[in-house]
Amino acid sequence: MKKLHIVSLGCAKNLVDSEMMLGILELGGYEVMEDPTEAELLLVNTCGFIRPAVEEAVDEILRLAEYKKADPAKKLVVTGCLVQRYGSDLQQELPEVDLFVGIDDEERIIDLIAGLGEESGIVLQHPSRFILSSKMPRRLSTPPFRSYLKITEGCDNRCTYCMIPSIRGDLRSRSIIDLITEASALAEAGVRELTLIAQDLTGYGSDLGPDTNLVTLLKALLAETDIPWLRLLYLYPVSTGTELLQLMADQPRILPYLDIPFQHISDPVLKKMGRRYGRQDLEHLVKQIRGYLPDCALRTTMLIGFPGETEQDVVELLDCLQHWQLDHVGVFPFEAEDGSVAAGFADKVPEEEKQLRFQRVMELQAEISKSKLQQYVGREEVVLVEGLSRESDLLLEGRTRYQAPDIDGCVYINEGTANPGDIVKVRITEAHIYDLVGKIID
Ligand code: SF4
Repeated sequence: MKKLHIVSLGCAKNLVDSEMMLGILELGGYEVMEDPTEAELLLVNTCGFIRPAVEEAVDEILRLAEYKKADPAKKLVVTGCLVQRYGSDLQQELPEVDLFVGIDDEERIIDLIAGLGEESGIVLQHPSRFILSSKMPRRLSTPPFRSYLKITEGCDNRCTYCMIPSIRGDLRSRSIIDLITEASALAEAGVRELTLIAQDLTGYGSDLGPDTNLVTLLKALLAETDIPWLRLLYLYPVSTGTELLQLMADQPRILPYLDIPFQHISDPVLKKMGRRYGRQDLEHLVKQIRGYLPDCALRTTMLIGFPGETEQDVVELLDCLQHWQLDHVGVFPFEAEDGSVAAGFADKVPEEEKQLRFQRVMELQAEISKSKLQQYVGREEVVLVEGLSRESDLLLEGRTRYQAPDIDGCVYINEGTANPGDIVKVRITEAHIYDLVGKIID
């Protein structure tokens, strides 16, 4: 067996690409090694859409390059968004790398590596037209009882701060038949929580005709699989409509959880961001969701310090968060990305001021999260058990329907036994800022 060490960086969509490459490499005779010293192939699947991610990717590549210095026979391969964004510019910066593979060539990874001779620094960067298929092998890197289902590639929106469309290309949707084939195989393999992901989940099917959209896909998943938990991430505000909310209200297998990035609430800021909605639309959406799904957990993200943002805009945003009492809010300070439209905007917010605004929003949301979680104390909640807690072997860890994997808090279980993947009933006995504590009742 050939030995491989792989590092997957970035978002869940990139993780699915890593799982595809892992499946292909395993079929090609590779086995995964935790320790890079034992591997002849070192592979980093990179993220590259914002500067901190680019820096993290370069640090990881240089870290693995040290192993190659110690053993020059090793091959160092870099794939993913960093390659798609910078291509041959990386050759000079990273001479230790043998092969740079852009998104469109990842499914050829085994042939590309087999073809690697003495040559080094080869770059494959083509406009991204790649789309995943259920015919491609995939080796899950998540626990076997949960998985992501990537339903599209790319994005048709053109938010002024975002580099993703230039990296991943325009939106391409997978067919419903192909997605059902993959979801059925995942269900067969024991998946109990399937999280649907895309750059914009609500854009699904817009390139495949009127009968293909998120609602028709969900109806097919409900009818063709018995996966008990279906979770939705990355919805676009104005395309999150009543048909979807009604289906969620009727179908408890679609979890009462919605991740809808608002990015801001101020009309002038949203306009400059190129977002196709304003504050009134968001007010209306939050009210509608609460009408159809009273106990739905609402997650969003806010971008703070966008060019032109005023103190008044921040006050309005804080008022809205106080008023809406959202469950989970990811807050990010704006970064002017080279090549983005927003990088050219004047009236930038000074860094210090931006950090202060970021802190104010984080502090308020931590308070809101803490008080929201108090509402769970005394309630009986269904919990998907992840396994022994990372905190202590005396505790089990799991998540309620209102907590997404890898991004939200969890439930620490201090009484009762269960196996990873079990869905059990837990009485919540305590609540902290982001996590809950409880005991299994049956
Ligand atoms: S919706 Fe906007 S922010 Fe999200 S990936 Fe598309 S362009 Fe980027």
